[in-house]
Amino acid sequence: MPRTVLVTGATGYIAKHIVLQLLERGDRVRGSVRSEKRAGDLRASLQTALSDPTKLHNLSTVTLDLTSDDGWDAAMVDVDAVIHTASPFPLVQPKDENEVIRPAVDGALRALRAAQAAGVRRVVLTSSAVAVITAVRPSNGRAYTEADWSDASSPAATPYAKSKTLAERAAWDFVRDSGGSIDLTCINPTLVVGPPLDLDYGTSIEVIERVLRAKDPMLPNVGFGTVDVRDVATAHVQALDVPESIGQRVLINDRFMWFADMARAVKTALPDRKIVTRVAPDFVVRFLGLFDRSIATIRNDLGKSLSIDTTRARELLGIAFRDTRQSVGETARWLVDKGRV
Ligand code: NAP
Repeated sequence: MPRTVLVTGATGYIAKHIVLQLLERGDRVRGSVRSEKRAGDLRASLQTALSDPTKLHNLSTVTLDLTSDDGWDAAMVDVDAVIHTASPFPLVQPKDENEVIRPAVDGALRALRAAQAAGVRRVVLTSSAVAVITAVRPSNGRAYTEADWSDASSPAATPYAKSKTLAERAAWDFVRDSGGSIDLTCINPTLVVGPPLDLDYGTSIEVIERVLRAKDPMLPNVGFGTVDVRDVATAHVQALDVPESIGQRVLINDRFMWFADMARAVKTALPDRKIVTRVAPDFVVRFLGLFDRSIATIRNDLGKSLSIDTTRARELLGIAFRDTRQSVGETARWLVDKGRV
């Protein structure tokens, strides 16, 4: 029986892959956008990506903003489940942290309140690994698990990390107080890589774009957990079908990659291209961070590797993670093919 799934932030890099997978499997999707123009962009990119473009008939759109109450109740009518992905994800952290925290937290609560009012029980929320790993270290070098929570009050937490941690906390608090009316799963991906569906891609792909531009003489000694966007989308869609995921957070990650590992993956995919793989001494990055806010963001992560336990994603949601070294290479080739770099 096809379901109708409301996907908020449907124009996002990850959400477009979620919408694609839902439409491919025959579900009806109501995608939320911020404007009519964005609705047209969304339809155009899905038209190209779908194996059968007639499936686009199952897509409708509604206009919603995380910062306004308008339209949320109407958006929930006849909806079977909500996948709430919308949240600001800026490359450069804003001076005023509330520019990202307020839409993230208020938006999550708007989605949950409207779902509850309409009797929509099932909600999957796109949280982030930054709600798990920020400013906390598991003891004895063990891997991070879903039991770990970031410390949003730490000075080391960026506005974005705070926004995701506080939004996820607010969502679980809402569920706890909702008298059992909402069945929530949170999906917590690490840095998402892999080919976008169109040229309107988000912040995470800009990391690979930066490697490809090869303008930085050296790379900072930082790294990230990484996961393919198609696996992130599958995790959201699978969660809808797996009742055991209700009440759970699920970390989604393939592997930790240093910036230099990413650069090497790009070089392997594009051997003729000049790619910088030299790593900058940490003191240089710390110094540059005094002047450049995009660099300041990574100062606390210099030299820190991490490991993440993904048993839940593999065993509960059945995710067999793609190798993100391949995903990074594929993304780099895609960016070059599209003339972006
Ligand atoms: P993205 O491409 O920037 O998508 C963000 C989406 O949120 C867009 O559809 C955007 O709309 C929408 N949005 C932002 N502010 C909004 C507002 N005030 N009202 C309504 N919609 C708003 O980023 P993404 O990478 O796909 O991220 C999607 C979700 O995954 C976010 O919750 C993010 O925190 C989470 N996540 C991302 C990563 C990653 O590495 N990419 C990792 C972990 C978690 P417009 O298109 O109109 O701007």
